[in-house]
Amino acid sequence: MQKLSKLSFIFDFSEKNSPVLRLKTGEEISIETMDCFSDQIRTDEDRLENMDWKKINPATGPVYVEGSHSGDALKVTIKKIILKDRAVLATGRDLGVLGDRIDGLRSKTVKITNGKVIFDEKLSIPVKPMIGVIGVAPKGQAINCGTPGSHGGNMDNTMIGEGAVLYLPVFVEGALFALGDLHAVMGNGEIGVSGAEVAGDVLVKIEIVKKAGLKNPIVETSNAIATVASAKTLDEAVEMAVHDMEAILSPAIGKTTDETAMLLSLVANVEICQVVDPMKTARFVLPKWVLERYGKGIMDLVKAK
Ligand code: CA
Ligand code: ZN
Repeated sequence: MQKLSKLSFIFDFSEKNSPVLRLKTGEEISIETMDCFSDQIRTDEDRLENMDWKKINPATGPVYVEGSHSGDALKVTIKKIILKDRAVLATGRDLGVLGDRIDGLRSKTVKITNGKVIFDEKLSIPVKPMIGVIGVAPKGQAINCGTPGSHGGNMDNTMIGEGAVLYLPVFVEGALFALGDLHAVMGNGEIGVSGAEVAGDVLVKIEIVKKAGLKNPIVETSNAIATVASAKTLDEAVEMAVHDMEAILSPAIGKTTDETAMLLSLVANVEICQVVDPMKTARFVLPKWVLERYGKGIMDLVKAK
């Protein structure tokens, strides 16, 4: 299996980045990542004020996936997330939803032991490892790793954890895949502007789906499928995620838009990924059993009609 060190990283998803490694479809790769502060906060004495803010949200990569072209999708199976034993929590003035009530920049480091984040003497929080930044290069203008979009990026989607499968639309030859910004745990919304920010290793399997019809990322877990969309406002993000789901679901199950609207209104959930990044991210979550009743699966949604 190929390994990618955290020393190969990018701060933006761009077709101009040179790949650091080449993969064939179906290969597995172990990807080491720094935390979202490039591991600059090591103790409670390390201050966010003194940190180099140009070095935030590094993503390890980019990986060139041989044979992938614009119009394909990258199927990324997240097989394992191994976390280091210490995480950083951060918030501050004008950061996050409560930033109007906080002075300066605040951070603290917390230990992770026995699968729990030790928040204080009274509270330990079970870890639920997830990937904050994961994506491919967009066509044209580069997008910094702190911003989510159709290419993936900083989606901060709690569904993207161990066992999940992420489908990303490919925009440029080789896809130029990268990931970083692991969280030991994060609540939907990420209201304080950080999760439990942690370095670690991610084992992924990468496959190409030829001629996919995706405009935006899709995540699959053991029991649900979600369209994921990012936009200036949450309202717009929700609209995009719902439209994306309808566009792929209706032809797959042979329904008209009005019938699908009635169906989705009963069984699918609008959920928030994050409300704190330059673009906001929402998801529209369809339980898998609904699709199964029609004898369909995820590939019927991902493949172009
Ligand atoms: Ca993030
Ligand atoms: Zn993060």
